[in-house]
Amino acid sequence: MIEEVFRVNLPVEEQLTLKRNRFSPIDRDAAGQKRISIVTGIHGDEIEGQYVCFLLAKWLNENPDKIHGIIDIYPAMNPMGVDSITRGFPFYDVDLNRVFPGSTTDFLPAQVANGIVQAVKGSDYAIDIHASNIFLKELPQVRISRSNADELVPLAKKIGIDFIWVHDAVTVLESTFSHTMNTLGTKTLVVEMGVGMRITKAYGQNLSEGILNMMSQVGIINRPLTPQGKTSISTLNSQVHFINSPSAGVFIPSLEHNVIVSKGEKLGEIINPLLGEVKDVLLSPCDGLLFTIREYPVVYEGSLIARILEDRKEI
Ligand SMILES: [Zn+2]
Repeated sequence: MIEEVFRVNLPVEEQLTLKRNRFSPIDRDAAGQKRISIVTGIHGDEIEGQYVCFLLAKWLNENPDKIHGIIDIYPAMNPMGVDSITRGFPFYDVDLNRVFPGSTTDFLPAQVANGIVQAVKGSDYAIDIHASNIFLKELPQVRISRSNADELVPLAKKIGIDFIWVHDAVTVLESTFSHTMNTLGTKTLVVEMGVGMRITKAYGQNLSEGILNMMSQVGIINRPLTPQGKTSISTLNSQVHFINSPSAGVFIPSLEHNVIVSKGEKLGEIINPLLGEVKDVLLSPCDGLLFTIREYPVVYEGSLIARILEDRKEI
């Protein structure tokens, strides 16, 4: 059922609305059943989650008798951003994922953030799907701050995602959707995958299968589990290496991402198109999993080129 969860008037007789598609059991009382919210589009230029929402809604449309709990799908939390291919909140030049929990009396982005929180509040689980940005391509991964690891890693494992990155929380994360919802008691996972402004079909298919598996394991749907690939996890002992460009130029990768690299292996080159010269050759500092790679070729000194998980552990 399509429900409107937030509405605000815009200046010229138009309206900004947030919508969700709610799936409920057809053969039992929804009261007391578990509820999950699938959220995406907080960053308007991240489109990978649209395909996941589509695949989940399609499966749920086709299998109404398998639904035991409540599944809410929110494809566009920053609808004006999605419509205008804008990462932030249009006109305000603000990152919507930095104004949570929001407020009813603050500027428009904060009102939208508050509307999202009020709509999702009370869910047992939430999955917030992001798609990196236009510069970096990411292996599908769940990012969890260390303070929430005990609670969220077991849930992330149920999704069977490629990589779980447990990292140290930084203050700025406190203004995110996920931090707000975790504080309010909704176990919320942040997924990063693919690249901005694009859809990577295989990633969307894998993640939607993983979410269906997870929903099955917590009793929201009834479906046999499908096999998933192995999950790598960062631990306290495993280090994530950041490889930054030593110079400005154009990055030409030597590898696809999602590969195991060896220490000293060539990741790519920074070239100078005017002079026809290779300015720098980038080598892997360690053995590990290449889970992030530069997608947008133009780089400046210090631009992030790759991230590699050393000493990866499989679970
Ligand atoms: Zn994002």
